[in-house]
Amino acid sequence: MSATGEILVVGLGPGPDHWRTPEASAALERATDLVGYAPYLARCPERPGQRRHGSDNRVELDRARLAIALARAGRVVAVVSGGDPGVFAMAAAVVEAIEGDESAHALPVTVMPGVSAMQAAAARLGAPLGHDFCVISLSDNLKPWSLVEKRLRAAADGDFVIALYNPASKARPSRIFDAFALLGRLKAGSTPVAFARAVGRPDEKIVVTTLAAADPSIVDMATLVIIGSSASRLIERPGQAPFILSPRQAAGGAP
Ligand code: SAH
Repeated sequence: MSATGEILVVGLGPGPDHWRTPEASAALERATDLVGYAPYLARCPERPGQRRHGSDNRVELDRARLAIALARAGRVVAVVSGGDPGVFAMAAAVVEAIEGDESAHALPVTVMPGVSAMQAAAARLGAPLGHDFCVISLSDNLKPWSLVEKRLRAAADGDFVIALYNPASKARPSRIFDAFALLGRLKAGSTPVAFARAVGRPDEKIVVTTLAAADPSIVDMATLVIIGSSASRLIERPGQAPFILSPRQAAGGAP
């Protein structure tokens, strides 16, 4: 048997290098192999001798199995995701592949956290996630749309701030409209809403509005959407983007 390899599950952060942890950067340097969705690999610095195994975005489990095979052959494999690898990303695929392959259970695996898109977006907006919030992916590739609707209703019923990942794609452009129609029936029109696109990248665009005024047609797959709770409020700032505050004391909460 060759030297034991290992798997490093690396979060690249939402875009810019200064939002990537030193641990993640060191892992990308140390790895002999990089495995991931091709646009994420493109964000990793080129290193001579390092092998890259790019793929499209629909084959996460295959990608995880490839990482296991490479690690078994003695390679140091970095499996890369944007943002945090535990948030709608590769950590779940790697752990699932290991679950289904008993001979991989002893492989050394290290999951390295990253700044997730919701944190980057929240930082631009002041404090929209300052109190209880929930996170929902609008993608219905891996779950039925009826489950997304059920969770949106439950989130509105629980009066959570809601962060939406994967809000739109060419294959299903109408989902974000369906989601806003549903939430518009359940929440006040004055609820603060933010569309935070490509946060930290040169083409960043932040739109702060209300549920009644929101135009979901501006959403694309690089957008993170935040919808406030009943306690969330907009704070206008002359010459600057408004803040969204979700105060730490919930509406109606005890002091
Ligand atoms: N693991 C990633 C999320 C992967 S799902 C993370 O933790 O951030 C991909 C979705 O993340 C996109 O559809 C978008 O909703 C969001 N996203 C990723 N990077 C973003 C960025 N820089 N700005 C805004 N949203 C982003």
